[in-house]
Amino acid sequence: MKNTRLTIILLILALAAFAQEPRPVYQGSTSVAVDTTSRPIARQDKREFSFDSDQVTFSNVFDGARLTEISRTGENAFTITITPENAPINMSPWYAFQVRSKRKKEILVTLEYPEFARHRYAPQISKNGREWKPLEVARIEEIGRDPNDKSFEARPKSIRMRLKVGRTPLWIAAQELENSSRVFAWMDGLAKKRKLKIEEIGKSTEGKPLRMMTVGNPAAKKFVMVISRQHPPEVTGYFAMRAFVERVAGKSRLAKQFRKDWAMFVVPLMNPDGVDNGHWRHNDGGIDLNRDWAAFNQPETRAVRDFLARKESEAGGKFFFGIDFHSTWDDIYYPMDKKFTETNAPGLMWNWLDAIKRAIPRYEPNIRPNDKPDPTIVSRNYFMRAHKMEAIVFEIGDNTPRDFIKKKGTAGADEMMKLLLDLVK
Ligand SMILES: [Zn+2]
Repeated sequence: MKNTRLTIILLILALAAFAQEPRPVYQGSTSVAVDTTSRPIARQDKREFSFDSDQVTFSNVFDGARLTEISRTGENAFTITITPENAPINMSPWYAFQVRSKRKKEILVTLEYPEFARHRYAPQISKNGREWKPLEVARIEEIGRDPNDKSFEARPKSIRMRLKVGRTPLWIAAQELENSSRVFAWMDGLAKKRKLKIEEIGKSTEGKPLRMMTVGNPAAKKFVMVISRQHPPEVTGYFAMRAFVERVAGKSRLAKQFRKDWAMFVVPLMNPDGVDNGHWRHNDGGIDLNRDWAAFNQPETRAVRDFLARKESEAGGKFFFGIDFHSTWDDIYYPMDKKFTETNAPGLMWNWLDAIKRAIPRYEPNIRPNDKPDPTIVSRNYFMRAHKMEAIVFEIGDNTPRDFIKKKGTAGADEMMKLLLDLVK
């Protein structure tokens, strides 16, 4: 068993060496068709890893965990290997594990990634898996940052953390842990508070529900589509989506007016398998879902495709606006280029971006339009081509302050509602 798994890991490392995308690939430049037929993934061995001489135990037995291998390198010193689900893959090493010790002490934990990867996410820590805070910078040592690489995506090869541990398990994760049960709890809470409908529009590769929430009037004929978490670790984009949706579902006069004859459909968790299995980017079919919006080989993308078609024909209505929330190195908006005017509301997206700029003082949005919608490949292009939506990829930086994310989500919702209400005056 162990040998098989090591062989798989070595195979992944070998494949990773040939990875085509050593640097982040921006959604804005995506236009080349890729094969999205399912490919094998390597699963983690879910278990506890105990080191008797130090009386320290690590665990990856929870949803959202990623800890591939661990070895003891000295007294109270450990190296954790984090490998992706398969390769090639972009370099977003996602790690999450628990550690506890019989005695209070400090331990050293070094993260080790495949050769092609770089460190991306600053560690967050938690005592209960719900409230998180960043690990103090003084406790993190960067390893192998190339001093000659001045590009903004330059990252260290790895990090070493000095952790205070004790009997209460300490959670360490790349970004706050927002696994499927946390996301579904948020949905259920909001649905209860605001009397929203939740339905299942399909099942993931592993059979998890793909849940969709309706905000607004279910009998409306004017629609907005919102999705997030196609890429598992992109938690900051998910936070922006949450603020956005809460605002539209909220108590403001604007929101109440908007909900009278608009309906917004929200799929907060497009990739529950990838999220719960700690994948760096792909679903359980081993595929980047946001490359599957032309071939539709994966059940997650098919579920949304079928819903959009069904809704449009059954209700006799139209989709006007679509947002796909993601995270990357920086806050970036990827709309379609202004030249694409064959939509249900030409120019709306650019008016929205202008309105956001006005609504958040001293904020200069980073906007990178896409001018190659075909083949559709990514959700935004499909939303525009198949349903004439004004559509955008809304990216939030990994390290964007969480209160500013909320502000952007809220402002984005208000400005969208105003523009959509104006549309029919
Ligand atoms: Zn993404």
